[in-house]
Order: sequence, then C-alpha cells, then structure tokens
Amino acid sequence: MIGFKYVRARDIADAVRQLSGESNAKLIAGGTNLIDLMKMDVERPTKLIDITRLPLTQVQETQGGGLRIGALVRNSDLGYHPVVEQRYPVLASAIMAGASQQLRNMASTGGNLMQRTRCHYFYDTATPCNKREPGAGCPAIGGQNRMHAILGGSDACIATHPSDMCVALTLLEAKVCVSGPAGDRVIAFADFHRLPGDMPQRDTNLEADEIVTAIELPPKGFAANYTYLKIRDRLSYAFALVSVAVGLDLDGDAIREGRFALGGVAHKPWRDPSAEAALQGQPANLETFDRAADILLRDAKGYACNSFKIDLARRCIVRALAQAARGAPQSQSSKKIA
Ligand code: SF4
Repeated sequence: MIGFKYVRARDIADAVRQLSGESNAKLIAGGTNLIDLMKMDVERPTKLIDITRLPLTQVQETQGGGLRIGALVRNSDLGYHPVVEQRYPVLASAIMAGASQQLRNMASTGGNLMQRTRCHYFYDTATPCNKREPGAGCPAIGGQNRMHAILGGSDACIATHPSDMCVALTLLEAKVCVSGPAGDRVIAFADFHRLPGDMPQRDTNLEADEIVTAIELPPKGFAANYTYLKIRDRLSYAFALVSVAVGLDLDGDAIREGRFALGGVAHKPWRDPSAEAALQGQPANLETFDRAADILLRDAKGYACNSFKIDLARRCIVRALAQAARGAPQSQSSKKIA
C-alpha cells in the first residue's frame, strides 16, 4: 500500500500554496482519471489536495458576450446547460460524445483538460514508457499502436490526447484561466496542450504549481452550422479513433469562415490554419472539403497498426464539413452515424 497525505483546500490561494510546497502533490476534483492512475501505480502523489469545495462551479455570461465556465463545473452540467446547448452546441455535442453518463456526472471541466493519454503502455508499469519514465523508450512505436497518433508525434512518443470536450474548445478558441504563485494568467487553448517532442512527460504548459480556475469562450459559437463527429470502436464509452469538430459561418453557399479540429489523431487537439484557409470564400461543397482534408493530412504518418486512420480522418473531415454545411449535425443520442 502506498501512503499519501490528504488535505482540503480552503480557497484558490491555499490550493496554490499547498501545490507549491510539495513537488509531487496533485489536485483532485472528480478523480475520474487520477484515481485510476493511482490504482494502476502510474501516479504516486505524495499529497492529494481536494479542491471540490472551491467556488468554481458557476457558468456565467461575460460582458463581452462570451461565457466563463468554472473549472469545477461538472461535464454533465456543462453539456446540458441551456446557454451551451443554444449558443455553443458543438461543445454540448462533444461532451455528450465522451465517456459515460456516470463519468460525466463526476468529471470536472478543469479535470477534463488535465486527463492523461489512454495509451495502454502508459498504464502498464511492466513496460517502458517515455511519458511515465523519461528515457525508458516507447514500445508503442514498434508495437500495438492502433489508437495512436498520425500527426505531431515524435521519436519519443506517439500518444493521443483522449478528450472530446477539448476538441470543441480548440475549435471555439477558448481561453484557459489559471492561478499560480505569480498571480493569474490566461493561456490560449491552442497553447495549453503540448506536442510530445523530446519531453513527452509534459502534457500541458501549465506549471506544476498552477491551478486551472476557468475556461472562457468567446462569443462566436457557430450555432447554425456545426457538428461533432466521433468514430470509435463502439458507439458509447470508447475513446475516439478519429473525431472532428466543425464550425462554419456561411454566406449563402459560400464559406465566410470555416474551422475544424480533430481528436484522436495527435498528442493535442489538432487544428491547421492552412487547411482552414482553404475553406475561406469557397463554395461549401465536397471539392472544397476534400481539398481542406488533404491539406490538413499532408504530413500524416501511419504506423504498423494505425495507417487506416489517415484515410478514416480524411473521410471524417469531409463528412463532418458536409454535415455542418447542411445544418444536420451528428446526433450523439441516436447512436447512428448519419
Ligand atoms: Fe509511453 Fe507515449 Fe510511447 Fe505510449 S506512445 S508508450 S505514452 S511514450
């Protein structure tokens, strides 16, 4: 049995102070990933700092017309929030595509950002893993890599980020509000998660003594033309092989602005400005969508078991863009792939 201390944070400053004082302390909220990691002996925190009583459970409209989501808002509460459903339906849809109802009832918004890869070697302490133990090696590169990255991987790690919610937050250009010993700062969502490079042990650019306090959404929610398409091995409670979040701003049949972000393909949710530039001002048709998909996937690299994901991603991008253009988003409740 591995012992650890347990403390309850009184306020945000106390949580930061507790984090700063101990190098292997961890924050715990819903615990839907951290407890598993501890049970599997992947994480061995010396102290758990319970933040569940901090006042971070509000969803508030901002003066600028956006939305501020407290880090402790439960995934279910966010997915069913009426403002999210009406103005940011791609976020609601992505949340409902993730995990199970029971997990969504426990998991927090901030925790969703901090969850770790589901690479099976990472969870198996009998195998080496650069993310768990830097320099140990990456057995996934030459081994079972069906779920692994086709974009942005490195010689050290080809793990994927598991979140659905984060794919929608990338599309929406959310901001992550954090607090640390030096005060508060805001991180653009695209800069929050990292590519593995030669430091796969670091998933995010959050410092070890910082805490996520909120997510801020800008006003633009693409409520008329959006979709979240998730392809997985079974139609519930499974991580994405490939997922695509789309938001289109249409002027008749022409695309005024088009965005799309992918999940299940890289160490972070994946967006490509040059692929989105290929949509701008173009007719919303299959030829345009094919071209954008080809640009996004131009540097995709498959491994022994996951090369199929390159073609799957191409077809998912085209299908998701077409769904969004038709105003016929993927239903997460029908369990059918439209
Ligand atoms: Fe570890 Fe990353 Fe390799 Fe998986 S892909 S075994 S997480 S280094």
